[in-house]
Amino acid sequence: MPCQMVDSFGRKVTGLRIALTPRCNLNCIYCHHEGEAKPEGEISDEMVVSVAKAAAQLGVRSLKFTGGEPLLRPHLAGLIAQMPQDLDISLTTNGIFLAEQAEALAKAGLDRVNVSLDSLRPETYRAITGCREGDLEKVLAGIDAALAADLAPIKLNVVVLKENEAEISGLIDFCREKGLIAQLIELLDLQHLGISGDIDAIEHRLAERADSIRTREMHRRKKYFLDGAEVEVVRPMDNTEFCANCTRLRVTSDGKIKPCLLRSDNLVEIGTCDCERIKALLQEANKRREPYFTITNMQKCDGII
Ligand code: SAM
Repeated sequence: MPCQMVDSFGRKVTGLRIALTPRCNLNCIYCHHEGEAKPEGEISDEMVVSVAKAAAQLGVRSLKFTGGEPLLRPHLAGLIAQMPQDLDISLTTNGIFLAEQAEALAKAGLDRVNVSLDSLRPETYRAITGCREGDLEKVLAGIDAALAADLAPIKLNVVVLKENEAEISGLIDFCREKGLIAQLIELLDLQHLGISGDIDAIEHRLAERADSIRTREMHRRKKYFLDGAEVEVVRPMDNTEFCANCTRLRVTSDGKIKPCLLRSDNLVEIGTCDCERIKALLQEANKRREPYFTITNMQKCDGII
């Protein structure tokens, strides 16, 4: 039995989110860049493998690759093939390069994917992401390829924005038809870009129409089941329950352990590929974990990134 990291607030660490690159082929208007300010360099394959092994030995059960865009990482299938067998391996991607990689990634051991897609309307998608002509079609082909490769359950990550609010029920219909889970994400406007979205109103309508509602352990996220669709709602802002039930550590694209998306003042530099040393660093990062939003402390997201 591996030991289990638990922080001083009683929160286990069961998930690790590793940014494989800061590079991205899109330029989404709201992107929080996984809370990375100015990444310097790119974490090596060797370090990713060692971190994954160390984390697995400390009770981490799931590993999510992110970025930037993780599918831009060279030899990604080769990297995934080196991950510990007992971990649930997933990645979050904009999906543009998924059609060409899904099968190889699944063969290498990738279990599932989240595809970020905020709109099915070409004009809206382009306005949000700054994509190139034809990219939306590539994302749709990527979703089909992920389904064919059984990278399931596949989640469709949708950040709720003023730009796509009217389309949310259409996106849920799309997910129902394809057998995807719709994951509606509250916008974090960390850089005060003046972007907005009203997830409150949308969740209210979901609650009214739902046949059943479940609450996940992680972040106490709500899942709404309606007319055969499954909709998960992710609402971190000012949410003390979310933080009190956070089970994650993060690793930045330049090799630092990051205890919280919303903070950059408590990072732990990795700087080694030695598994035993990395275990000690993960435990140090675990000591630095603390809920960001608490009842007594509604922190402000000013100037984080
Ligand atoms: N490029 C990959 C992708 O598109 O999934 C991985 C990186 S992206 C930063 C990871 C997830 O964070 C995406 O689902 C994206 O929609 C979400 N995200 C980015 N900025 C956000 C923000 N300001 N508020 C809420 N979610 C955000």
